[in-house]
Amino acid sequence: MDTPVGSGTLYWFIERHREDTGLFMGARRVWTYRSNFQDIAVLETETWGRVLVLDGLVQMTDRDEFIYHEMLAHVPLMTHPDPRRVLIIGGGDGGVLREVLRHPEVTRAVLCEIDPMVIEVVRRHWPEHGAVFDDPRVQVLNEDGNQFVQTTYERYDVVIVDSSDPVSYSRSLFSPHFLAAVRRIVYPSGLYATQCMSLLYHLDFVKGFYRQLQAAFSNVALYTAPVPSYPTGWWNFAMGSIELSFDPDRLPLKGRSIEFLRLTRYYSLEIHRSAFTLPNFLVQELQYAHGTDR
Ligand code: SAM
Repeated sequence: MDTPVGSGTLYWFIERHREDTGLFMGARRVWTYRSNFQDIAVLETETWGRVLVLDGLVQMTDRDEFIYHEMLAHVPLMTHPDPRRVLIIGGGDGGVLREVLRHPEVTRAVLCEIDPMVIEVVRRHWPEHGAVFDDPRVQVLNEDGNQFVQTTYERYDVVIVDSSDPVSYSRSLFSPHFLAAVRRIVYPSGLYATQCMSLLYHLDFVKGFYRQLQAAFSNVALYTAPVPSYPTGWWNFAMGSIELSFDPDRLPLKGRSIEFLRLTRYYSLEIHRSAFTLPNFLVQELQYAHGTDR
């Protein structure tokens, strides 16, 4: 159904994170859709602006999407010396793609989003995002990202996973089988980055996934950023590479265009450097040494 409900009253959206806690928002208007993969909703709210909800979980809000999308795109792309070919798995809201395309070095961006209706809904409710899908450098595929990486012959400088949380269709994107395939399709000089849940709610998941990353890649690092509309408001990201050893204090800036920094609202080179400084509890839990921690 794409006729909005609500006019004058507030419709209360509740995202339950645990039995006794979660997030709620009052929406003036709500649009609901059902695809072959998930429930899709768009909320129009005073405080958060437009909100994209998939299977009851907030994916993107106007108020804070820039933080998440800038950090998932620019940290790997500024870690790579010359990112030309980028694969984004998931990302149907267009935010990461928008940020990736800000880099003139990028000549090809493949977006592998399992659910075409997510893109259709985003085009309708976020027309400003819609344009990025039509960029001549972009190819949009509506496939399962795990299937795609197992079968593609293409190679990439950067592979970014911007999927929903590791349940349902996204679960496979956090498996050793998937990571092994990503290692095959990313150039030895390339790197992989993914959203990687909350350090406060999902520490066991992060620890287990971190070990999987260490098995798949030679260099692994975690970084964080505040994402207020996500559970606990503090989000974790992971990066892995084969030959590219990355040091946030020594970014390969030579010859890189950094014009995009005039447009970013959260990401900066200083934020990039500081994002890899992790809290003591995590360092202790992981016996973590940044980068090569084997
Ligand atoms: N920023 C959000 C987060 O951190 O949860 C993710 C936003 S983006 C909208 C997530 C997208 O991943 C959704 O559009 C969903 O359809 C897509 N997705 C989930 N599983 C997938 C898979 N196996 N292959 C490709 N896309 C997938």
